[in-house]
Amino acid sequence: MSAEIIYLDKVFDEATPRVTLADARALGLKRYFTGTPCKQGHVAERYLSSNCVECVSVDAAKWHAENPEKVQEKLKKYRSNNRTVLRERDAKRARDNPGKVNAKNARRRARKRLAIVTRDADAIMRQISNEGGKCFYCAVDLLPFEGHAEHIIPLSRGGPHAELNLVLSCPRCNIGKHDRLPSEWSRLPKRHATRAIAREREIIEWNDAQILGLGDF
Ligand SMILES: [Zn+2]
Ligand SMILES: [Zn+2]
Repeated sequence: MSAEIIYLDKVFDEATPRVTLADARALGLKRYFTGTPCKQGHVAERYLSSNCVECVSVDAAKWHAENPEKVQEKLKKYRSNNRTVLRERDAKRARDNPGKVNAKNARRRARKRLAIVTRDADAIMRQISNEGGKCFYCAVDLLPFEGHAEHIIPLSRGGPHAELNLVLSCPRCNIGKHDRLPSEWSRLPKRHATRAIAREREIIEWNDAQILGLGDF
């Protein structure tokens, strides 16, 4: 038998000690290993029920992929039953890895905001064409397909993926602005700065209203 299965860092092959079901029961183990492949050909441990450990894990992954709502429900239950443990774990992770956790929180905030705004691709295209083929920041005329779809408040800074936050930008401005807000971008062309900063304020107000459930205004 040349098959080799790695499960939970354990390698199962010719050399793996055999543990019969009777032995496992006698020793109080949860799994046994005979080396005989399962119906799917996995050379893997079996649970005491004789179910193949590898098959169970494949089936579980499939079930997870097909039942996202049930997974969420289970997770929610798990979190509420294990609040203290999880809080301690998160606090430890934050202490060990401050940068990572901050980045993760920023992404989570961005996703949260994303979830409450339109993802209507047509609306976004409409918004972009409203700019009349000019860069929102420097007003240069753009060639067709030259413009970048630009988030005035970057998603990484919690900006929404919404019409109000999207403009057409020339590649130079898009790259130059990077993840700054218009109010933080000192090289924002003066002539157009007022309207860009006014729009930034408008987006923040709109976004806060969405989050507070006040709806559009
Ligand atoms: Zn199997
Ligand atoms: Zn520009």
